[in-house]
Amino acid sequence: MAALKVTILGTGTSQGVPVIGCDCVVCQSNDPKDKRRRVSILIEKKDTTVLIDCGPDFRCQMLDQQISSLDAVVLSHEHTDHMMGLDDLRPLMFKAKKPMAIYALHRVIADVEKRFAYAFEPSPYPGVPRFEMNSVDYFDSIRVGSLDIHLMKIMHGKLPILGFRVENFAYLTDVKTIPTTTLKGLEGLDTLVLSALHEYDHHAHLTLQEAIDYSSKIGAKRTYFTHMSHYMGLHERVNQRLPSDIKLAYDGQILKL
Ligand SMILES: [Zn+2]
Ligand SMILES: [Zn+2]
Ligand SMILES: [Zn+2]
Repeated sequence: MAALKVTILGTGTSQGVPVIGCDCVVCQSNDPKDKRRRVSILIEKKDTTVLIDCGPDFRCQMLDQQISSLDAVVLSHEHTDHMMGLDDLRPLMFKAKKPMAIYALHRVIADVEKRFAYAFEPSPYPGVPRFEMNSVDYFDSIRVGSLDIHLMKIMHGKLPILGFRVENFAYLTDVKTIPTTTLKGLEGLDTLVLSALHEYDHHAHLTLQEAIDYSSKIGAKRTYFTHMSHYMGLHERVNQRLPSDIKLAYDGQILKL
């Protein structure tokens, strides 16, 4: 079976790290691993490349990784830090000479159509982005080129959103709780990327300890944390305190599976 390559494009919570105007030790750190753009990952297999989430840092993430084509974009949910970069898909659409395929929940598509209304007008201004919207549901599987992506249901506080499994890799961001059906679908993982906001309680995100508890319940061989705020602390220092099979992810990290 061909190898799967996952690039972690961003590991920061909605404001990103450093936070504008913040003078805390994390925001002032010179360690590149303490710079966290808004969350997104790239999954590649053979000639297929799929992006999960397209936040406000999308343009810089594509330039840094020298990505010149995407086969599809899948959105976990409608929050700004996960979809505000959709307009910057334009160069890739122009190059491919076709609309970009977007996969999202029905509710999320309605939100994209509202926020990017100019892209859906019948006779739009030339140069606007064009999207081919594909409505998906929890526990669907979607096939894009060489990739089979299994959609799962996770709870972001009260909001149900999408998590993803591809072969023995899973990506769950903006998690507060994981339904039992989804936990069953996460058996036998090699690598899990899971969100962990910081140590203090939050109504819609796992704390560090809650994420550690879910990690040991899920039992992937390796777990990486993402969607972190500056309150998480310094990358190197937090990493030293974590169980041996868990690490904080960092921007630009590549996982070969
Ligand atoms: Zn800070
Ligand atoms: Zn969110
Ligand atoms: Zn988020």
